[in-house]
Amino acid sequence: MGSNIKLAKDGGTPVRESLLPYAAQWLDEDDIEAVIDVLRSPYLTTGPKIKEFEDEFAKYSGAKYAVAVSNGTAALHAAMFAAGIGAGDEVITTPMTFAASANCVLYMGATPVFADIDPETYNIDLKEIERHITSRTRAIIPVHYTGQPCEMDEIHGVAKKHGLAVVEDAAHALGAEYKGRRVGGLSDMTTFSFHPVKHITSGEGGMITTNDSALYRQLVLFRTHGITRDAELMLRNDGPWYYEMNNLGYNSRLTDVQAALGKTQLAKIEQFLKLRKKYVDMYNEGFLDFAELIIPFQKAGTKSAWHLYVIQLRTEMLSVGRKEIFQALRAENIGVNVHYLPVYQHPYYTKLGYQRGLCPNAEELYNRIITLPLFPKMSEQDVNDVIKAVKKVINFYRNRTRG
Ligand SMILES: *Cc1c(COP(=O)(O)O)cnc(C)c1O
Repeated sequence: MGSNIKLAKDGGTPVRESLLPYAAQWLDEDDIEAVIDVLRSPYLTTGPKIKEFEDEFAKYSGAKYAVAVSNGTAALHAAMFAAGIGAGDEVITTPMTFAASANCVLYMGATPVFADIDPETYNIDLKEIERHITSRTRAIIPVHYTGQPCEMDEIHGVAKKHGLAVVEDAAHALGAEYKGRRVGGLSDMTTFSFHPVKHITSGEGGMITTNDSALYRQLVLFRTHGITRDAELMLRNDGPWYYEMNNLGYNSRLTDVQAALGKTQLAKIEQFLKLRKKYVDMYNEGFLDFAELIIPFQKAGTKSAWHLYVIQLRTEMLSVGRKEIFQALRAENIGVNVHYLPVYQHPYYTKLGYQRGLCPNAEELYNRIITLPLFPKMSEQDVNDVIKAVKKVINFYRNRTRG
């Protein structure tokens, strides 16, 4: 009865009275108290909470070391620094990610090389990685898009064969599992973000995990101006006051205030993951009979952390494109989003010379995807509202044979 439906965008009643955002943090009283306790303590920046947060994070992710930094972008930058990436080097990553995954390569004066995605998982395609390896390639940055782990064994195989570093951008993947092992301890380095839309938050914040003591030392240097007080690393030693700088580092430190919040948030991660998975199951079930929608693919042997729930529209089965569907859902007060414009299609990258058509699968996917709201703090009623709105809009725009 499609003709009886009146969409909110055409003056009908919206499915929801107020806008449901696509993501939001979850804060309890214990989070707030942990922050206040630090404000009453002698430490605001690096104090005891940093080490506690790092130790608990390393333990959770299955890595030997964790280094807390100011945000996920600084984590990627630090990882590139520790991997020794520099001018003339090439680093392979995916275009289906937030710009920071490639920007970190530019920060080092190196060149990001974009390998196309697998149209099923939307993650970087192994064959495409291999096709882009040259004598200048130094590292691969796989991104676990939406929380679905990449094919890490295969990526490590290619990396080993060509002597490349692997830095996982796991900003979407805290708590994800690959073949029964948690993301964080699998590669040379793995980076995380604690922006409020991610799994846990410290306001702004980031972490790098590694099992390698040499990389760990470099990461710590990066975070504090390249300055060391470690006698073993110093070229001279003038006395007890002395420190020295042998590398050009940055100030990428997290504060103790943020680390305290990160700690109490990390303690809730299993609860957060469970709720995300529950809502994903509700979505999958709700969209089962809708041939116009492709729901997220789950690769065997992996457990997604479900940062994002991305539906792909079979636009050939609809009378309008993604933009109209998106606008109709927003009018129903569903805070839909799109993740992502392929990175190299941002004007800054176009000016650097990256051309349209570089990664056809990513470009095609970009035209067909919509991110639906997904966060632990939403209610089952919120999830049902989203399902209802999606069904309403798809039913309205379903291609019908006209008589
Ligand atoms: C959020 C995000 C980042 C950057 O993290 P910030 O903490 O916002 O700097 C990097 N990569 C991906 C894939 C992200 O989603």
